[in-house]
Amino acid sequence: MFGGTFDPVHLGHLRSAVELHEALALDRVHMVPACLPPLRDRPQVSPQERLGLLKLGIGDTPGLVADGRELERDGPSYTVDTLASLRDEYGREARLIMALGHDAFLRLADWHEPQRLFELAHLVVIDRPDHEAPLSPTLAELIAGREVDRPELLMRRAAGGLLRLALPTRMALSATAIRQRLAQGRSVRYLLPEAVERRIEAASLYRHS
Ligand code: ATP
Repeated sequence: MFGGTFDPVHLGHLRSAVELHEALALDRVHMVPACLPPLRDRPQVSPQERLGLLKLGIGDTPGLVADGRELERDGPSYTVDTLASLRDEYGREARLIMALGHDAFLRLADWHEPQRLFELAHLVVIDRPDHEAPLSPTLAELIAGREVDRPELLMRRAAGGLLRLALPTRMALSATAIRQRLAQGRSVRYLLPEAVERRIEAASLYRHS
């Protein structure tokens, strides 16, 4: 599971998802847009539109799935609920992985029921070139004894481990930078898939900051 606001989805997200799929030999990567992200301002673009952009971005990419399950729930989009729903779907034995970038990982202790995340899934932290900050004491405590240094070790159990992964292609790219460029009328070519750029243009999304 690779969740996010995807406001909008960009090549940093999509390339990471492809490389994650490959590096860990996953069956599939569910990319799950948050309906109401609990820890940030409400996105200016609707959840349905963000899911639509994600579908366009994924296109026919093997192994990636645009998963709209958080749009079907009311209230804040808590990742534990999403993982619980995936766990129900795949069963107790399945190895479930929640992937997130290092910037998101740094805030993990503030998430809803952070301990329970590890009961439901493994955590894989993707390095991002522009986010190298150290861990807070609360976060260090939360992950104590969970870290492994190889995917094989993670895959021995269904949940509960932590792996940091430096994927081959690291892109210093953020949705914030893309929204700023769009608001300023500057080019976003080659930062997101062409189909996503076309839709943003056609629907005049992100024109205002
Ligand atoms: P924003 O700038 O609006 O905060 P973002 O680009 O960080 O957006 P999110 O939708 O918040 O994107 O991120 C979803 C997930 O993707 C998070 O776990 C985040 O760390 C990760 N992520 C975002 N951009 C990249 C990137 N360039 N490389 C790897 N992971 C990324």
